[in-house]
Amino acid sequence: ALSEFLRKTPQSKEFSTEAKQVMPGGVTANIKAFDPYPIIMDQGAGAYLYDIDGNKYIDYLLSYGALMLGHGPPAVVNAIQSQVEDDGTFLFGTPHRLETEMGKKIRQHYPSMERIRYTNSGTEATLLAIRMAHAYTGKHKIAKFEGHYHGGYDQVLLSVNPSVDNAGPVDEPTSVIESKGVDPYHQEHTIVLPFNNLDATAEILRKKKDDIAAVILEPIQSGFIPADHFFMEGLRTITEELGILLIFDEVKTGFRIGLGGAQAVYGISPDLTTLGKVIGGGFPVGIVGGKQDVLMTSAPNSNSDVFDSSQSKTSQAKDVLFHSGTYNGHPTILAAGLATINVLEQEIDHVLTTTRQLKKGISELFAKHGISMQTIGLGSIFNVVITDKEKIWNHRELQQANFSMRKQLDFLLLNEGIYTKPLNRYSLATVHGDKEVQDTLAAYDKALSKLT
Ligand code: PMP
Repeated sequence: ALSEFLRKTPQSKEFSTEAKQVMPGGVTANIKAFDPYPIIMDQGAGAYLYDIDGNKYIDYLLSYGALMLGHGPPAVVNAIQSQVEDDGTFLFGTPHRLETEMGKKIRQHYPSMERIRYTNSGTEATLLAIRMAHAYTGKHKIAKFEGHYHGGYDQVLLSVNPSVDNAGPVDEPTSVIESKGVDPYHQEHTIVLPFNNLDATAEILRKKKDDIAAVILEPIQSGFIPADHFFMEGLRTITEELGILLIFDEVKTGFRIGLGGAQAVYGISPDLTTLGKVIGGGFPVGIVGGKQDVLMTSAPNSNSDVFDSSQSKTSQAKDVLFHSGTYNGHPTILAAGLATINVLEQEIDHVLTTTRQLKKGISELFAKHGISMQTIGLGSIFNVVITDKEKIWNHRELQQANFSMRKQLDFLLLNEGIYTKPLNRYSLATVHGDKEVQDTLAAYDKALSKLT
C-alpha cells in the first residue's frame, strides 16, 4: 500500500520537504503531520478534494469536522459576499446585528445556552468556559476525563492520549502531561477522571468537591465514543449535588450529532456549553454559552469600569471576569455560520441517513471479509475500529484496537481515493450522497481484499 501511495504522491513529498524549511515538521498543527508525509491538497469542490499531484479524493476528514456543507458551498459563498457588500466592511469593532441573530439561533437549538459570548476558536471557548466556572464558584481546580481533548493550552493538555503504561490506575487516573513546556503545576490543578465509570468518577469528585469548579467533558469522546446514558445522568446529578459546574464541550458534536448536539440526544442540560467548528462555516469561531447567572460573571458593570492596561498592574482583581478579543463575533464569519446552520436545518436528515448507510455498508464489507470491527459513533461522525470487543467505553479500551491494520487499510483507501487522515474519524456533509457512498464502499471492498 505504501509503495503505491509513494508512486501517486511525488509532488506532495517534494512540497513537504520544502515546507520543512519553513515550518517545524512542515506543518502548522502537529496533528496534520503523518508518515511518510502529508498529502498536500490543492482544491476542494463539494465532497471532493484534489491534491497537488492531481489525485481526487472523497473527503471524510472535512477539516476535522468543520465543513458540514462540504467544500465551497454556494450558500456560504453568497452569504460572505453579501455581508461584505451590504455592510461595506469586514469588522465594525462595535456590537452588530449578526451577533444577536446568531445568538438567538444558537439558543433556539441549544436552550441551555441562555446567554452566549463569542471567541475565535474552540480552544478559546473552553478556556473562557473554565474561567467562568472559576469565577462563578470561586474554586480553582477543574476535572476532565482521560482521552478528552479541549484545546491546546496548559490547563487541559493533560491525559488526552496517555499511554496505558503511565496513565495510572483505571479508576483513579494519573494526570499525564501531554506536551513539552506544560507547567507541572497543572497536574495538581487538573484532576483526571475515568470516562464512562460513574462510581469511580463520583468518588473522586466527592473527595475533591471543595476545590473543583467544573467538570469538562466531550459528551462523545473524540466525537465518536458516546457516554453511556446512565453515566451521563449520574454525572449531571452528582455535579449538581456537589456544587460543581458541568461543561459540555460540543466543539466537535455541536450541529453534527443532530442540530441540538449531544445535549439534545442525552436530554441533559449542562451549565455551560462550548461550540466551534461547524458554526463557523469553515472559518475560525467559538461560542461559550450557558446558564444566565454563570455567563453574567462576564457582564461589564453598568458604570463601566473599563479595562485599561495601564491601570491593571496596580489594581486589585476586578469583580468582572475579563473577556476580550479583537475578532470576537466577526461579522463575515457569523454570516458564514448562519448560512451553514440555515442549510443544515433543511438538510441534516439527509446527512444522518447517508452516514447510517455508509456505516452499515462498511460493517457488511468487514463481515464479508471476516474481520471483526465496529463503526462507532452517533449522528454524522463515526470511526472504524478494528476490534474483537463488544463495546468500547473509553480511551484505554480503544488503545487495544488493531491500529496497525487500520493504518494499512487507510493507505489502501487513500490509493483508492478515500480521504481521511490515517486513523482519523469519518465526518459527513450535506454533499455526500448515494454516489459517494457507493464509490466508498467499492473502494473498501477492494482495499479489504488487499489487507494482509
Ligand atoms: N474541543 C474539542 C472537543 C475539539 O474537538 C477541539 C478541536 N479539535 C477543540 C476543543 C479545540 O478547537 P479549536 O481547534 O477550534 O481550537
